[in-house]
Amino acid sequence: MRIRYLPETLINQIAAGEVVERPAAAIKELVENAIDAQAGRIDIDITHGGKSKIVISDDGIGMSAEDLNAAVDRHATSKLPDDDLLNIKNLGFRGEALASIAAVSRLHIQTRERQSGGHSGQSGQGGEAWEISVEGGKKSPLKPSAHPQGTRITISDLFYATPARLKFLKTERAEYLAVKDTLQRLAMAYPHISFTLTHDGQRSLNYTATLDPISRMASVLGRDFGENAIPITAERDGIKLSGFAGLPTLHRGTAQYQYLFVNGRSVKDKLLTGCVRAAYADVLHRGKHPMVALFIDIPAEQVDVNVHPAKAEVRFQEPATIRGLIISALKHAIHANGFDTASSVSYAALGAIKPQPPSSGALLSSSPRRSYSSYASYPSYAGNVGNTGNAALAEAQQNLYEPLPPSARAELPQTEQSAQENAQNEAFPLGAARAQIHENYIIAQSAAGLVIVDQHAAHERLVYERFKAQLAQSGIEKQGLLTPEIVSLSEDAVHNLLQHKDHLDQMGLEIEAFGIDAIAVQSIPALLSGRADIARLIKDLCDEIAENDNADLLEERLNALLSTMACHGSVRSGRRLNVEEMNALLRQMEETPLSGQCNHGRPTYVTLSLKEIEKLFGRR
Ligand code: ADP
Ligand code: MG
Repeated sequence: MRIRYLPETLINQIAAGEVVERPAAAIKELVENAIDAQAGRIDIDITHGGKSKIVISDDGIGMSAEDLNAAVDRHATSKLPDDDLLNIKNLGFRGEALASIAAVSRLHIQTRERQSGGHSGQSGQGGEAWEISVEGGKKSPLKPSAHPQGTRITISDLFYATPARLKFLKTERAEYLAVKDTLQRLAMAYPHISFTLTHDGQRSLNYTATLDPISRMASVLGRDFGENAIPITAERDGIKLSGFAGLPTLHRGTAQYQYLFVNGRSVKDKLLTGCVRAAYADVLHRGKHPMVALFIDIPAEQVDVNVHPAKAEVRFQEPATIRGLIISALKHAIHANGFDTASSVSYAALGAIKPQPPSSGALLSSSPRRSYSSYASYPSYAGNVGNTGNAALAEAQQNLYEPLPPSARAELPQTEQSAQENAQNEAFPLGAARAQIHENYIIAQSAAGLVIVDQHAAHERLVYERFKAQLAQSGIEKQGLLTPEIVSLSEDAVHNLLQHKDHLDQMGLEIEAFGIDAIAVQSIPALLSGRADIARLIKDLCDEIAENDNADLLEERLNALLSTMACHGSVRSGRRLNVEEMNALLRQMEETPLSGQCNHGRPTYVTLSLKEIEKLFGRR
């Protein structure tokens, strides 16, 4: 056996396996080339999921005859003028995409160079147009062509030269969906470029150029996202973070709708998933995932984009800084808007109660707005609503945390509120409580319209936030039990629980081993006293610990436990509240951070504006 040098075509085919493993990857490379070429408009037309044909046209700077001839050679690039891999300013730099694609398909390029002084869009103003074909790695001679300014690349029969690869492609539909995802990511990062995608003759994406990033986001991720996303900007040590965080109530079942862009490059990085989970841990149940799109602008020398042939991963010099920046910015955004609940929730509800409308859809198309986005305009919100000096209110607030003797439930006095009190309450965002229905929903009248509150969900959030405040100040207030409560558990569960003895202690829950398959509970958080079924609580905590053990942040773990405790400590649905108690709950919600959703990310209240109500009845 002798060592021999592989022929060029084979080298390119091998490289192609890494660079373009499927149609979506080829399209990503070609669209990135068009972006690097300063295109203002990029059109993609594919057939059979891209397996049969891919055509990409742009109106960018184009290429001269000489450049066109070199472009399809391996390691030929116009993008590393200083040979400096530490300072990469373009999306491309490896000079191997065109060569790789050419090695495994039939490639045809037509291009006309933009003349100096010309601008994108002024087609036909450039020099001469040229074309070239490459088939299975073999270049044809250059030919003059007829083509407006820009470049048009046609790939036919991708992977025909590498049948093994061809076999591994998924169904046309799956390949098409991957192409679509790729394009959507690129479109999010480059709102100033128009994109279209056509599949088998049908237009499937059409994004017009815009200077407003959120409007592009809304076109890509849906109107819901546009209306329920909080803009983010932050900066630390020369690293800029911008983008949008979806309100927790706008969640999805997968983490798929979390996008990270680093210097304009869409990257799939576990870092983001971890950060998002940590930032939303308080407001979203595990299994629910928020939608976010974040853009990091970082000096080129602090990030290595040359980790992966398809450039889908990056390495940060200081991952901890990035992590900190993302988590704090997301948390800040969520907390600043904590009282908001996703408008889409209200709209969905509104849709549900709509009477058979003669003109269906008219209602839902009413101009969208975020509930209480003009919060500052409410006179009393800026101050501390709790300190209104109203003794009855203070007492009612206290009562919310006291257990109610079962006998008292049936005949709670429906205290008559004076007209003046009512008017005062109505000025608050959540309004004046008017009724409780089905023992769980508070109906309130606000200046703007009608508010419906889920009392259990709302109270759960209040208890949770109280726990957190206590924990941060002096530790959670505990209350000793006269006789310890013995809870039998599996040996495993006892072991797990005892591992967290110290944390539980901090949270007011003192436990001790009681034999090998039971524990003795000595004290519980005072907020839960008289309210919680202790055995049930302990079992839920065990589940929480088992499920959450790999959470890497202590804070995240503690909060998950607190949230479980809060659920046990909150007023159950089914408890009757009197008007004072209801108003107390509403006022507390207004003061409490993140009260727009319960700990599981469900909304705690929905609103119907007077306008919406009038619409329901055809008055508008
Ligand atoms: P890279 O993008 O890493 O430089 P490619 O193989 O993707 O490598 O492209 C090789 C070269 O071809 C690029 O550096 C660029 O000069 C030229 N090129 C490719 N596509 C286009 C395009 N759409 N418009 C203008 N020039 C292009
Ligand atoms: Mg390239």
